[in-house]
Amino acid sequence: MKITDLQVIAFRVPRIPYSNGKWLDPTTVIQTLTKISTDEGAEGYYLGGAGHGDQDGLSPADRAALEGGLKWRVVGQDPFDREKFWHWMWVANVQENLLSVLDMALWDLQGRTFGVPVHKLLGGCRERVKAYGSTYPNMGTPEDYAEHAAACLAQGYKHYKIHPYYFWDPVTKQPDPGRPSHIEQDIEVCRAVRARVGERMVLSFDPWGTYRTYEEAVKVGRELERLNFYWYEHPMSEYRVAAYEKLCQELSIPILSPEIAAGSIYTRADWIRRGASDMSRIDVLRGGITGVKKMVSICEAYGVKCEIHMSGFANLQMLGATSEDVCEYYERGLLAPGVDYETPPPYLKAIGDPMDSEGYVQVPQGPGMGYQLNWDYINENKVK
Ligand SMILES: [Mg+2]
Repeated sequence: MKITDLQVIAFRVPRIPYSNGKWLDPTTVIQTLTKISTDEGAEGYYLGGAGHGDQDGLSPADRAALEGGLKWRVVGQDPFDREKFWHWMWVANVQENLLSVLDMALWDLQGRTFGVPVHKLLGGCRERVKAYGSTYPNMGTPEDYAEHAAACLAQGYKHYKIHPYYFWDPVTKQPDPGRPSHIEQDIEVCRAVRARVGERMVLSFDPWGTYRTYEEAVKVGRELERLNFYWYEHPMSEYRVAAYEKLCQELSIPILSPEIAAGSIYTRADWIRRGASDMSRIDVLRGGITGVKKMVSICEAYGVKCEIHMSGFANLQMLGATSEDVCEYYERGLLAPGVDYETPPPYLKAIGDPMDSEGYVQVPQGPGMGYQLNWDYINENKVK
């Protein structure tokens, strides 16, 4: 079998953006579906590739890069040679999200060809995964967070992860780009949520790298320890690896990082060796399924957890091929009061990650990624 084409199908999707605790004006965004075709009629797809999960379409520049140089590198190649592509693309310094999108469309293609979901191709391990509810940042007052955590508990979530206040002032309720973090108010949120849900929920915390000093990171970390939080994610800029080493020695709560650092498995393996985090973190846009699969093996060998970042079909397929002892949770969200996470977007007939009343998400069982695409919608809303 040979690859004959690589196309990016771009289409319009209406969206009402939620930001800083309120709804913005309705708008239209561009979602993308990357498609690989072969001479034997087999096809592979990947949804999105730019931002969170698989909800955000590729930019015009990314689309041009895939349909330009990258297409001409892969046309004529065997679509099952993912490992060859992976090494090739890293050495060729191809942008991480683009080599990831290519890798995942090829996994989808092989799954569709054999009629099995990707987690079975990888080696199936489980059919459902524990989820945590992951909040939007800047959701309102500490009481608003507590109320939302209680609602998530009632819905079945057993684990709730707080994204606190950043680039937003919780007192004036205005954007505050010059002051990325507000640690006193962040601590108030954590206290309010723990007070509301007690020990009925596992709690985690992610200020998304906005603590500018080591001292701020330690101060919040000590409070998280007092409140029995499970992990402390990405507190400082991930360029400061030595500060992370010191933080891991100082605190007993597990530090979960790096999440957004570039370099896929190479950066993360080095963090483990240096003791810069207690739990590792990666997602499928940082090396594709092939990269995450390698990272899970590295973590398993070192006895370090590999917590998968973000929602999405491909992350969930990857989780289906891992043990809970290595990759414990699926990140469900982002969530906020009034945000409808359960209705599929118009280009899908069903969401990929429905959650049961016990807080588990089922791994999609359809072939490949398990997408149930609404082709009528996609074809009617295509853009050039
Ligand atoms: Mg995070």
